[in-house]
Amino acid sequence: MQLAPPFSPVVLVVDDNPDILRIMGDVLAPQYRVRVANSGRRALDMLAHDLKPDLILLDVLMPELDGYAILKQLQADARLRDIPVIFLTAKSATEDEEKGLEAGAVDYITKPIRPPIVLARVQTQIERKHARDWLRDQNEVLEFEVARRAAENELILAATAEGVYGVDLSGRFTFVNPAGAAMLGYESAELLGRESHPTLHHSHANGSPNVAAECALAAALTSGVAIHGEQSTFWCKDGSPLPVEYSALPMQRGKQRVGLVVTFTDIRERQRYQAQLERHSNYDDLTGLPNRNLLNDRLSRALTHYQQADRELAVLLISLIRYKDINDTLGRHTGDLLLQEVAGQLSRVSQDADTLARLDGDEFVILASRELTEGTLLQALLDTLSLPYHVNGEEVFVRASIGVAVAPRDGDTADQLIRNASAAAYQSKAAGNGVPRFYASAMNARSLDRLKMAAELRHAVERQQLLLSYQPQLHLHSGAIIGAEALVRWRHPTRGLVPPNEFISLAEDTGMIGDLGEWVLREACSQNMRWRDAGLPDVTVAVNLSARQFEAGNVTELVRSVLDSTGLPAAALELELTESAVMADAEAFVRTTQDLKALGVTLSLDDFGTGYSSLSQLQRLSLDRLKIDQSFVRHLVDQPDSAAIVRAILSLGHILKLAIIAEGVETAAQAELLKAWGCDEFQGFLFSRPVPPEEFAGLLKSRSHWAPNGGSDARFPQGGAIR
Ligand code: C2E
Ligand code: MG
Ligand code: MG
Repeated sequence: MQLAPPFSPVVLVVDDNPDILRIMGDVLAPQYRVRVANSGRRALDMLAHDLKPDLILLDVLMPELDGYAILKQLQADARLRDIPVIFLTAKSATEDEEKGLEAGAVDYITKPIRPPIVLARVQTQIERKHARDWLRDQNEVLEFEVARRAAENELILAATAEGVYGVDLSGRFTFVNPAGAAMLGYESAELLGRESHPTLHHSHANGSPNVAAECALAAALTSGVAIHGEQSTFWCKDGSPLPVEYSALPMQRGKQRVGLVVTFTDIRERQRYQAQLERHSNYDDLTGLPNRNLLNDRLSRALTHYQQADRELAVLLISLIRYKDINDTLGRHTGDLLLQEVAGQLSRVSQDADTLARLDGDEFVILASRELTEGTLLQALLDTLSLPYHVNGEEVFVRASIGVAVAPRDGDTADQLIRNASAAAYQSKAAGNGVPRFYASAMNARSLDRLKMAAELRHAVERQQLLLSYQPQLHLHSGAIIGAEALVRWRHPTRGLVPPNEFISLAEDTGMIGDLGEWVLREACSQNMRWRDAGLPDVTVAVNLSARQFEAGNVTELVRSVLDSTGLPAAALELELTESAVMADAEAFVRTTQDLKALGVTLSLDDFGTGYSSLSQLQRLSLDRLKIDQSFVRHLVDQPDSAAIVRAILSLGHILKLAIIAEGVETAAQAELLKAWGCDEFQGFLFSRPVPPEEFAGLLKSRSHWAPNGGSDARFPQGGAIR
């Protein structure tokens, strides 16, 4: 008999009939390993001893233990439950077959045995069993793998230092790992089910609300687009902000999106480190001032900025003279303290400047506008640097050389400017006189001149070097003198009489215009009062006010107090304003003119036609007079354009019911034309240059007046010198 190979399926045949056992053995042995049991008991015995057949052929009718009883026992045993059982029944016992199938047999074979049927049924059942086993095994493997991975994930989530959380499509937390919860100051369980947006990212770092419609995480949730390495702020349970870097990935189940997984890390440490690095690379440790690195950056920015505004930028390089000697004699520590002290003083002096930086060693750089530099800054620097410093109980005198380069003239790159400022400082050091040097020599002379003049102007008022000239203003029709414009001059000890065009703008740039203007106002009012007291005909005195005096904001008070203290009636004072004051702050200007008007003084707009006053603006100002600028009067006769402008101003003035005075009238022809076109008053060399007060008094006393056709009786002051 041919025997089945090893590893072929095992079939257990249970029957109390030895013939059946033998026949089955013959039929099955070539393909299966056959085991036989001649009683139910024996079969259970064998099964209990490690026999695990792939199939059992079980006789239903057996003494003692029948097939049903055995099947029941098999089913009760988890190890044996899966073994398919085929019942062997007598042909007539159909009810056995049904009962057997109900009890859990997989098939039945009727006796007498027909080998092909046995083989076919056995094979079918064994194949089915194998298929089932395979499936079950696969399932087990899969389940194991899933469990393994879940455990692994759990472990990873628990162990990772990154925060990880998941939200569902409605934005509610579905899980939070321990690290994430801890970073945010929550217990994981507290967060589950909560809405993530109002909990975690409701506001930006600055506290302003992060609207959900604009929130990147909310967008990722709705769009399913991943986010990688973004920085943002999450908010902790205690309300404190947590700067984070986060990534977000859409969570999928099959093809369906079910939410978002967000990983985040606390980047406070990194930010601190970066800030520290930045500080270190941008600031000088000793003085806390910007270093060369940051200076370069600031300088480049300033260059663009100044260029756009069409302004000049000055680069000042301050180098301490013989700092090395101080270091050597007093020690390095004292040297350092001195540098700190100097840095402190420089930053106090240069607080209006754009930047103060420390280059290497004993060199400092200031960036400032040219106006500020020449106005007050250089002088203030010189003053500060000439004071003794007290360091470590020692009194130390520091001398410094200052070099200035001005952009765009002396260069238009950071490098070039610092180099040129440095070259200028070197020259200043070489000259050894403590005088600052400008890089360009022409500039040098002019700027130093202005610097020197600014220092001198500061003392001009107290040293009584200022004086006023008075230029008569006359009625065009009657020819009578109706007033005088007070024009300031500076009697300079070496320069002689300096005209206002050379120092008014300097006074404005350096903030001295306040004192100067106040002196002029007081002096002009007092003078007018003296003329009145002397019994001369009443005239008004016109005083020029600078736009800067308006900006200071106390003009009205000043005028009121000057009128009070001099006793001059307000109607005898006229204030000449310029259009630049109107434009600086129109609203403030309108208010101020109303206040002044309420005092009773006369207001006129000087140099009219050269600015950009609009008609609507003019209407809102409480003006009495327009003063046609002399540039139009000059070419009145020979240039049609000028004539047209003058006529336009005249008709505009009439519409607005303003009196009109023409300044700079030099010829009778000009006067005649103006008169013919309806101009009311004039002022100019035709009748008189500005004259000293006593001379003006003479004109008043002799009742001088202008008569057309060359009949003027004023003595025409000769010579070009201003008076
Ligand atoms: P402004 O207010 O337009 O004064 C008129 C200027 O024209 C005066 O020059 C005057 O001398 C000059 N002038 C008068 N008649 C004629 C003429 O027929 N022909 C020519 N070519 N020039 C004539 P000045 O005194 O040099 O003053 C120049 C400017 O300085 C003034 O222009 C005014 O804007 C300013 N200024 C003068 N004094 C003061 C003052 O006390 N305070 C302020 N803030 N500015 C003043
Ligand atoms: Mg004027
Ligand atoms: Mg003028």
